[in-house]
Amino acid sequence: MSEYKSDIEIAQESELLPIQSIADSLGLSSETIEYFGKYKAKISYEKIRDLQKNEDGKIILVTSINPTAAGEGKSTVTVGLGDGLKRLGKKTIIALREPSLGPTMGIKGGATGGGYAQVLPMEDINLHFTGDLHAITTANNALSALIDNHIHQGNQLNIDQRRIVWKRAIDLNDRSLREIVVGLGGPVQGIPRQDGFDITVASEIMAVLCLATDLSDLKHRISRIVIAYTYDKQPVTVRDLGVEGAITLLLKDALKPNLVQTIEHTPAIVHGGPFANIAHGCNSVIATRTASKLADYVVTEAGFGADLGAEKFIHIKSRSAGFQPEAVVIVATIRALKMHGGLSKYELTHENIFALEKGLENLKKHIETVTQFGLPYVVAINRFTTDTKAEISVLEKWCMNNNIPVSLTEVWEKGGAGAVDLAEKVLHEIEKSQYTFSYLYDLHTSIEEKIRTIVQKVYGGRDVEFSVKALKQLQEFEDFGWGTLPVCMAKTQYSLSDDPQKLGRPKDFTIHVRELKPKLGAGFIVALTGEMMTMPGLPKQPAAYRMDVDENGMAIGLF
Ligand code: ADP
Repeated sequence: MSEYKSDIEIAQESELLPIQSIADSLGLSSETIEYFGKYKAKISYEKIRDLQKNEDGKIILVTSINPTAAGEGKSTVTVGLGDGLKRLGKKTIIALREPSLGPTMGIKGGATGGGYAQVLPMEDINLHFTGDLHAITTANNALSALIDNHIHQGNQLNIDQRRIVWKRAIDLNDRSLREIVVGLGGPVQGIPRQDGFDITVASEIMAVLCLATDLSDLKHRISRIVIAYTYDKQPVTVRDLGVEGAITLLLKDALKPNLVQTIEHTPAIVHGGPFANIAHGCNSVIATRTASKLADYVVTEAGFGADLGAEKFIHIKSRSAGFQPEAVVIVATIRALKMHGGLSKYELTHENIFALEKGLENLKKHIETVTQFGLPYVVAINRFTTDTKAEISVLEKWCMNNNIPVSLTEVWEKGGAGAVDLAEKVLHEIEKSQYTFSYLYDLHTSIEEKIRTIVQKVYGGRDVEFSVKALKQLQEFEDFGWGTLPVCMAKTQYSLSDDPQKLGRPKDFTIHVRELKPKLGAGFIVALTGEMMTMPGLPKQPAAYRMDVDENGMAIGLF
């Protein structure tokens, strides 16, 4: 048996405060929150509107180097840093994404942090929580049903059934649903056509919900979603179908941010969770903004490494919302650095200074990227029990010799106490910073130029190559008037390049864009590089095999 407790054991031993007491600490009276049981609540729209007059708190963005498949502990460090700031007496809120059941039942495990740095109640948050993902799934599928019905009822919009781009959704990893045929069974069962399922977190409804500032903006964004093309290749939107009202109605409660707490009773808003590869990978704008109106410091994270999550947080989420982070925390682990230095995943628990030193070039690139945005940063070494003293010392010395602010972070083992040093260093960087923030691209440059800029400045690649299809789309999209939207790159998270095998800091590589996808509701153009999975499959030994529930409804084996 392991000498360390599992995440769920720690979570179940922790004492939660009633959610009203967490709300009280933020000045949220019982009239302004809506309870979901004892420990979860949503914040009302009236309160959110009322808060807009408040000053903005400072946003701290947690990102990482290119991760291993297990994740490098961004959520864990986000939670721990929030607890660390609270220990320093700072009014702090943590803003995280809602977990998806696909990875929860599959391979990755939950998304509520780990060890003594978790948000609670972790079982609820990792399972059905307040039902937001179910509402998004239903809204997504209501739209599918309305599209099929429109075609069945005479297809007034002249939709080409072979060019319907809207797919059905379910919040599970289910590879059998990737490609399906609907409408079989004769004339009264609809018109047969090929369809498919995406996982809910890859649905544009999720991205839209996460970027909307309020219900009217949500409706407006939904109305812009491109669902299909006509026989003469013109885009058809939700507005053309006239159902934006119904779809928004299904989301009226899902848009309200969810309030919970950490093990140390720091308030946390957990809301929205778009994929970080096909979408922008950040929690909702409404959650981050509400948090910044309620607290002096907001600690939030963006999915995967800084090449994907942080770039999109800055160019997509915060640009559209009108805020920016004041500082960035770059999470690095010794194990991932060793992997970037050439070790296989089976060799990571053994000391290997040579591989570690070689892998540092990956961290260096992410530091350069954050610096290009003009943002102050601190490197957080997320300590694992397998890290040796010599390895940690090599990493710390390298940082010091290169004038890189660094903190050894032990939040998994010690909770907020393990991040007090990190919190102090982040505050110091914010205070001393002469803020010279800038975007890396202007929205008015062409889609092609935006992609090239990201490839060269963020990934460190040489150039970008477009497929024949993508080249045609570049022209079409500019002609449709979509050229001023930001770009959402869909790329592997494992490498700076589009080849997951090229670890470390690959040089002189070309990124291959095979297709573009308009996400007009979300307000970005997705550039697909390599094979991007929008419906993952389950592994041979899914995490679900370890799960159970006792006769009192207590969850077992949820990591
Ligand atoms: P990310 O947000 O980068 O995907 P998470 O914070 O979700 O990563 O962590 C992934 C898993 O790794 C979680 O199960 C968590 O408990 C575990 N983990 C994170 N940090 C540590 C650590 N320092 N030691 C051991 N396990 C950790």
